[in-house]
Amino acid sequence: MRTSIATVCVSGNLREKLEATAAAGFSAVEIFENDLIAFPGSPADVRRICADLGLSIITCQPFRDFEGMPPERRQRTFDRAERKFDLLAELGSDLLFVCSSLSPEALGGIDRLAADFAELGQRAAQRKMRVGYEALSWARHIDDYRDAWEIVRRANHPAVGAVLDTFHILSRGLDLSVIRSMPKDRIFLVQVADAPKLQMDYLSWSRHWRCLPGQGDFDLAGFMDALLTTGYDGDLSLEIFNDRFRAGSARSVALDGHRSLIWLLDESSRRSGHLVPRATPMPPPAPVSGVEFIEFAVYEGDRPGFEALLTALGFAKTGIHRSKDVSLWRQGAIRIVVNSDTDGFAHSYQITHGTSVCALALKVPDAAATIARAAALLDVPHSGPVGEGELDIPALRGLGGSLLYFVDDGSALKDWSSVDFVPVDAQVEGAGLTSVDHVSQTMQYEEMLTWLLFYTSLFEARKTPSQAVLDPGGVVQSQVIESGVSDARGLRLVLNGSQSHRTLSARFVTDFFGSGVQHIALASDDIRRSVARMTAAGVRMLAIPENYYDDLQARSDLSESEIAELKALNILYDRDAGAQFWQAYTATLDGGFFFEIVQRSGYQGYGAPNAGIRLAAQARSQ
Ligand code: MG
Ligand code: MG
Repeated sequence: MRTSIATVCVSGNLREKLEATAAAGFSAVEIFENDLIAFPGSPADVRRICADLGLSIITCQPFRDFEGMPPERRQRTFDRAERKFDLLAELGSDLLFVCSSLSPEALGGIDRLAADFAELGQRAAQRKMRVGYEALSWARHIDDYRDAWEIVRRANHPAVGAVLDTFHILSRGLDLSVIRSMPKDRIFLVQVADAPKLQMDYLSWSRHWRCLPGQGDFDLAGFMDALLTTGYDGDLSLEIFNDRFRAGSARSVALDGHRSLIWLLDESSRRSGHLVPRATPMPPPAPVSGVEFIEFAVYEGDRPGFEALLTALGFAKTGIHRSKDVSLWRQGAIRIVVNSDTDGFAHSYQITHGTSVCALALKVPDAAATIARAAALLDVPHSGPVGEGELDIPALRGLGGSLLYFVDDGSALKDWSSVDFVPVDAQVEGAGLTSVDHVSQTMQYEEMLTWLLFYTSLFEARKTPSQAVLDPGGVVQSQVIESGVSDARGLRLVLNGSQSHRTLSARFVTDFFGSGVQHIALASDDIRRSVARMTAAGVRMLAIPENYYDDLQARSDLSESEIAELKALNILYDRDAGAQFWQAYTATLDGGFFFEIVQRSGYQGYGAPNAGIRLAAQARSQ
């Protein structure tokens, strides 16, 4: 299947859009009429630019309000179609894209509409062109692909075929079984878009909320399964109208677009077992089984304070790097790498971001296969300088230019800590922290869909519905990505982004010179003991207002003494259908990073009801 994108998806002028499209590896494009009209050159110029960039022009769309015109308007409509054929000829395209009519003058009647298409097909054939018909979900008469298909069938002309658009079909929840019986040579184009499930009129939903495959809630796999049954191997073209994309970088949206189609084809062949024409061969999505280590880039001047915090949190220094100014800290299954080397990636990261998390390492079954999948999905593998005898841990460029490392048990990578570090004998009584529970990354609002796609295309992971969290400075959107089953989550990532410049998330991104890890949550089996131990060791915890505990008394069935204990330790509490959750936060470091301590008892969430309290407490303490 050839992958394509409509120029409406990306920002910029037509030339910028086409250049971004070609740079992302597409070989075909749908030109939107408005982009052509605003272009200060002839259609022949556009054709030349596309040819130079290696792009075929599928169509210049749309052609509106064609079918069902009353007799006195009919001739003029066909005249308009002839002018559009002229334009297509100049562009070197052969497909007239007709979307179903919105005109209040348009008459219904399936045979009348079929007769219009029969004549249009004849005119198209004389010019060696074709006509594709798409049912818009908010059209006047034909808002269902099955009706459009019936018209195409009755027009009964080989130059007339159907255009399927996943938005119009899936937004209406239409039955897909008719697609299965459509002959593949009568499907002239397939347009793909995903979208979040919203209660909204179809027009606004389509114009502002379409998103790339995998970013929304539509059952694209079900659609693809029906489509692949037909043997369709024509163009698969993205048609996305989205306000975030209009505000984003053209190159990044086009690249994400190509990634989403590569992912969709791979996903479809995996799920349905169909042989998908031209799907990129790649290893399956990686099931992440845990966070292997977290690497902090630490400014030398910050190091004594940072190491004192780790010690007070119950971490022990257990290793010194063989060749770099890097140390390894451990507690339970948590490993933290403190990198103060004045050379290399971490140093550059620290200069631009300050003391912060510069890398995460994830545990996967096969690190090399994960990198191979990432490369097939157009991600950027990273390779840094490696000292003699040290491991070259495979990595990708992640959020904000940070690194995402992969280690596995099946290669030499499993011994990374003993290969790269000289052990130090450290006797420290820990604070009972056992593992990394979740990692929270904060980013520009416009980037959220990019990173959602990055993680969900690469990993065997799913997203939960996006949630709005109230911050004293505005709203923060929060999106969770999880892998594994409920009692064994290998990966829990929380992505946060905010459109307001006054939220803590937004200030984190600004003060911190870009997107990054804002907090790491560490699990304890006994949070009261852990927090008491940390506080005694000098860790400053985020102060939670008394009112919170008064309210907790009113809405929970915790005893007075239990609440008094939580209050003394600044621990927040939530319960959900019998499952319980406790969480506490350290005070924020310079730059906005903090640790969270959590305890779960069957609880699957992240304490969303407490997020507003935490944000307000943090805002106050700043
Ligand atoms: Mg469409
Ligand atoms: Mg959290």
